This record gives sequence, C-alpha cells and structure tokens, in this order.
Amino acid sequence: MSQWGMGEDNTIINKGGGIVECRICGLNYLPELEEDRERHEREHLNVLAGGIPYEVREFMKQAAWEVLDNEDLRETSQRLERAKRTLAFAYWSRAISNSIPENELKPYMADTLAWLDAIGAGDQVEVDRKAER
Ligand SMILES: [Zn+2]
Repeated sequence: MSQWGMGEDNTIINKGGGIVECRICGLNYLPELEEDRERHEREHLNVLAGGIPYEVREFMKQAAWEVLDNEDLRETSQRLERAKRTLAFAYWSRAISNSIPENELKPYMADTLAWLDAIGAGDQVEVDRKAER
C-alpha cells in the first residue's frame, strides 16, 4: 500500500489548487489547462528522445563534479573516468534538449571529454580555452 492509495497515479503529486507535480519530469502544472497538458506532453517527448529532466541532470552534475574536484573521492582512475562520462552525458542531455542533432554525438562528446580531461589534469590553459560552453 503506497502513500498515494490504491489505483492512484503514483507519478503525480497533488500540490493543491489544482496544481500537480510530475515525479517523472518534475514539471509543476495545471492539468485542467490544455496549454499545460501540451507542455507536459512535450517534456515527456524530450525524455523519450534522450533528454534528462533538469533537476536530475543538475544532481548528476553536482555528484560528478564533486569527484572531479576532490582527489580524495577519485579512489580509482575508473571512478574518475565514470565521473567524466556522467558529466559528458549530463551536458549531452542538455544539448539534446536544445535540439542538437543526434548525429553530433561523437564530436560533442569528444569536445566535452577533452575539456573534462583538461580539468582533471589541472591544465588551466586548456580549461579556459574550452570554457565557452
Ligand atoms: Zn512529466
């Protein structure tokens, strides 16, 4: 038995005043408004296309930056590499949300990983050069 009760939609939190929060995409909206329902539908299409909801993306970035910024958390080179990949995917997901074509995956990732490698190596010149993102 969940806190939402039998048969209720556990992906929706009632915020009162007709406003609901979607637990999938994080959007707060008024289901009674067609405009809001359409916006919500677009959010989910974005998720289906590989987009990650904003707050999830920010959480991923925060956790991964902590590993990249703190040598004590790196433990192994594999963990550092995973932190870089997590960041690369978080940035890629934002790019997808901004309608960057999927066929740009490799150049985009190559550029992002080079930037993260420079940060991991403490190469300030290279970091500044690639900071225009
Ligand atoms: Zn949603």
